[in-house]
Amino acid sequence: VLSCIPGRTNLCSNHSVTTPIDLPPDIPFSLDSLDLEGYISFDDVHNASKDFGNRYQLPPLAILHPRSVYDISTMVRHIVHLGSTSNLTVAARGHGHSLQGQALAHQGVVINMESLRSPDIKIHKGKQPYVDVSGGESWINILRETLKFGLSPKSWTDYLHLTVGGTLSNAGISGQAFKHGPQINNVYQLEIVTGKGDVMTCSEKQNSELFYSVLGGLGQFGIITRARIALEPAPHMVKWIRVLYSDFSAFSRDQESLITKKNGFDYVEGFVTVNRTDLLNNWRSSFSPNDSIGANQFKSEGKTLYCLEVVKYFNTEEANSMHQETESLLSELSYIPSTLFTSEVPYIEFLDRVHISEIKLRAKGLWEVPHPWLNLLVPKSSVFEFATEVFNNILTSNNNGPILIYPVNQTKWNKRTSLITPDEDIFYLVAFLPSAVPKSSGKNDLEYLLRQNQRVLNFCAAANINVKQYLPHYETQREWRSHFGNRWEMFAKRKHAYDPLAILAPGQRIFQKAT
Ligand code: FAD
Repeated sequence: VLSCIPGRTNLCSNHSVTTPIDLPPDIPFSLDSLDLEGYISFDDVHNASKDFGNRYQLPPLAILHPRSVYDISTMVRHIVHLGSTSNLTVAARGHGHSLQGQALAHQGVVINMESLRSPDIKIHKGKQPYVDVSGGESWINILRETLKFGLSPKSWTDYLHLTVGGTLSNAGISGQAFKHGPQINNVYQLEIVTGKGDVMTCSEKQNSELFYSVLGGLGQFGIITRARIALEPAPHMVKWIRVLYSDFSAFSRDQESLITKKNGFDYVEGFVTVNRTDLLNNWRSSFSPNDSIGANQFKSEGKTLYCLEVVKYFNTEEANSMHQETESLLSELSYIPSTLFTSEVPYIEFLDRVHISEIKLRAKGLWEVPHPWLNLLVPKSSVFEFATEVFNNILTSNNNGPILIYPVNQTKWNKRTSLITPDEDIFYLVAFLPSAVPKSSGKNDLEYLLRQNQRVLNFCAAANINVKQYLPHYETQREWRSHFGNRWEMFAKRKHAYDPLAILAPGQRIFQKAT
């Protein structure tokens, strides 16, 4: 049982103390003497000791800044060669946007994937277009480059300043996933450095076991050094629509009907607002109300409301037909009529929308605060029971961060990846995304928010709602086994095959390095 990882320092709370890991003194020297195209550094380890969650501080011994896949393979082989004479582990780090230390390697080696600049972003046009990118590339850069050719990846995350290796190790889910599947469903080929240091190319046809293990594999089986990502023609513009519901059943019925439509919207998401004053006034800076008078009279405070957010892609010359199609789709929905707000923006502006909030939060010093986020996949059969209890009884406001809720239809998703989802065709992603405030400034401090998360999880357990965590985090191997259910044996077998010493991605806390 992994009840405790040695040396773990928990920034937030009281239950963990750091015990330094003893390393033989010649280990740093042995790392420094490796023949690398890039370089290894020991004096900037603070840059890789925390993540976006901002709750754990676990400095590595060194950071590898690789120039080539061979640098990564050389490092992994060296650590394998040291075997049990060292405690060294390896974590690939994308942008460190993890929440609970998943990209950290305490006293190990963190690989700064951003320095792996090869291959350059290479776009292949043709019948089935694709782009080849390095595993450390960020999605925003890929979008900017592919748009130059009128192309774009199909499936996204809400925030684009994440890396390819980071999201493919999880899933990469956003409002396009009902149509195209998550990002892990839109990859043709990968290049991997396994936990043995072998460099392997894999795809659906070639080394397919490794390919599907790595997709959604939480970094456990190999380091993604290159990915071939599916593209489609990019639209110029999007019609972006928000409407409100006060009744959860009507909201979820409409969401579910939209994700099963053939020629429906291109993006379907939604969010919950609990007791948000003047919500519609806040929207006015970026959206126009269809009915200004009705919208002015609408009051959001004191209520739990559900916002449906949908988008239709279009090219400028197709604006008329797009308007007709959206009118027709909206006419079938039962939202509160005075709450229809619309906007038309360039495709890239829509996709990069969260970055605007990032800039504002950074300016106020509110980006680098603890983020006790909880992401759950809730089966459709239980979502009403879940929503009734969580949004009406457990949460009293969501002023400290958004709560997303939207269904996806996984009938088209590939079931061979390592991603664990509920066992129903339709399930909801429910994401609680708060930022903690200092204890002195109010009730939404870290401890309070963590307790609230635990209440949600306790409720699901007591009500027998078979939720699965997305971007999962557990303290013990027993909990991991329960997360994987009957796929645990397969996961563990694959770990043994591709990373037998368990040196990769120790921050996920699934396996502990053999000593
Ligand atoms: P890191 O945090 O650096 O790494 C994540 C894990 O992957 C670690 O275990 C790491 O060791 C491993 N890893 C990193 N690179 C590689 C590689 N090349 N090969 C193998 N393993 C690797 N997720 C969604 O699905 N949808 C969203 O809409 C979404 N929105 C987000 C918005 C914000 C503001 C933030 C902070 C996160 C969001 N995420 C979302 C979560 C995001 O997908 C994860 O944080 C993910 O880990 C990607 O972040 P990263 O690239 O910085 O990876």
